[in-house]
Amino acid sequence: MLKVENLNVYYGGIHALRGIDIEVQKGQIVSIIGANGAGKSTLLNAISGVIRPKEGSIKYRGKDLPAMPYKIVEAGISQVPEGRLIFANLTVKDNLIIGAYLRKDKEGIAQDLKNVYQLFPRLEERMNQMAGTLSGGEQQMLAMGRGLMSNPDLILLDEPSLGLAPLLVKTIFEIIEDIKKMNKTILLVEQNAYKALSIADKAYVLEQGKIIKEGNAKELTKDPSIQEAYLGKS
Ligand code: ATP
Repeated sequence: MLKVENLNVYYGGIHALRGIDIEVQKGQIVSIIGANGAGKSTLLNAISGVIRPKEGSIKYRGKDLPAMPYKIVEAGISQVPEGRLIFANLTVKDNLIIGAYLRKDKEGIAQDLKNVYQLFPRLEERMNQMAGTLSGGEQQMLAMGRGLMSNPDLILLDEPSLGLAPLLVKTIFEIIEDIKKMNKTILLVEQNAYKALSIADKAYVLEQGKIIKEGNAKELTKDPSIQEAYLGKS
């Protein structure tokens, strides 16, 4: 579904992504784990057209992805950015509706709003509340809900567990699995390697802009070097 080949991104003189190759098959959860500054957000931003790679190809359903964020939404990809970037002075409901800004099918939008409220009952309870007054966890739910409102096939999720209490992290990861069951494909980048590997079909380990390991997520959890570096075991 998504194939990234030899992706190279620079920020001025900093070579942030160094020849990245990844592949995401339809219906999978693919996780990219890595420490702070490994290049996880850069990778998602390159796929979503927010930043322009110097070299490499990004193919979606066999075609080159146009490097423009709204074209990418039209193509069926939605990004849920790190830091959530919700509109603080709009209500929860209006934030969700904004996620459907390119759509004209009113019935489909109404149905997806229902689906989002089913997935996140907390958002339904708070639909008229200003988004800026939501807790961090609720804002994360809102960002994910908004990402679903364009009815994407592929969702790019950037650090959904960042800054959340353990119980909420558990909930968010359960919801990611529920989103997969809605026939969506998910590319997830996370520092929480344990959780990211536990729900993924396939995973990549990103270190200093390079993929240093890839494979079946369950097998990677058994890899001693991964256990030591990312899972807190030795
Ligand atoms: P984190 O988990 O901390 O968000 P990350 O893995 O997402 O980290 P990136 O944000 O992709 O990492 O950053 C990769 C590298 O590129 C870092 O060294 C970072 O300092 C650098 N970088 C990111 N954005 C810029 C920018 N706009 N200008 C210059 N350097 C940047």
